[in-house]
Amino acid sequence: MSAPTRVVKDSMLGLRMPDIDVWSDRVVTILGQNPGPFTGPGTNTYLVGPSRRPLLLDTGQGVPEYLPLLVRAADEHRGTAEIEGIVLTHAHPDHLGGCAQVAEQFGRIPVWKRPLPGFDRGIESELLPIDADDVVATEGATLRAIYTPGHAEDHLCYWLEEERALFTGDVVLGAGTTVIPEHGGDLLDYMRSLHVLLALEPVVIYPAHGPRIDDATGKIREYIAHRELREQQIVDQLAQGVAAVPEMVKHIYVDVPEFLHPAAGSSVRSHLRKLEREGRARRDGEEWSLVRPA
Ligand SMILES: [Zn+2]
Repeated sequence: MSAPTRVVKDSMLGLRMPDIDVWSDRVVTILGQNPGPFTGPGTNTYLVGPSRRPLLLDTGQGVPEYLPLLVRAADEHRGTAEIEGIVLTHAHPDHLGGCAQVAEQFGRIPVWKRPLPGFDRGIESELLPIDADDVVATEGATLRAIYTPGHAEDHLCYWLEEERALFTGDVVLGAGTTVIPEHGGDLLDYMRSLHVLLALEPVVIYPAHGPRIDDATGKIREYIAHRELREQQIVDQLAQGVAAVPEMVKHIYVDVPEFLHPAAGSSVRSHLRKLEREGRARRDGEEWSLVRPA
């Protein structure tokens, strides 16, 4: 048997995660060793499949400390020094940044991803394009790609058919809040993606950051409710004639320290852009207002 897993990471969130952990018969998680304000305890990477030919889902950021852990996890939990291939959720560097070091160790194994020209850098191996409903399988594990834009335009979640489990990447997290970036992010797409995930009725979520989520549908509903509440607060502000983002932030984020207000402002703007796309709000320079039904 393997030695007890070392627990060393103490992120800014105060959340500790083991370096290697077994989350089911088919799923072993290896922590990316990249803790930080945006990654929490670090990026979760996953060996998926019960056989000696597992898939690797996401690769972390390319931190040197990660590779020996991946090698150890494959050896101790699957008795192998081989990986069938890599599946990626999206092109953010803390997910594909480890591709090159994995290729150094395991060879130029296939890499499956929804392509995002200009951003799929440093993969080293041939990129095999996949999209919604495509399947990547290994012995005993079948992953179906679920297209879930919003956090990133190329984002795929993966449905593990044998477990009715969902790898959510950065769409639903076990710790922290999903960011909707100004570039590549879209809150309207994101809300649609959450509803797509909810309709699958997963029994468990394996997120890209933070612990396993056992109340999967409850967590997705919570995410939807949180964004809907925030949207209503913003609509209320607009209805009262509050037009500028910093002022809205001051009114809505009363309990949030001021140094976090720029981040809050970014979130408010993502809501306003959603309302604009839906024809419910309009923008005039830095001033926002509601579009009232004629
Ligand atoms: Zn991301």
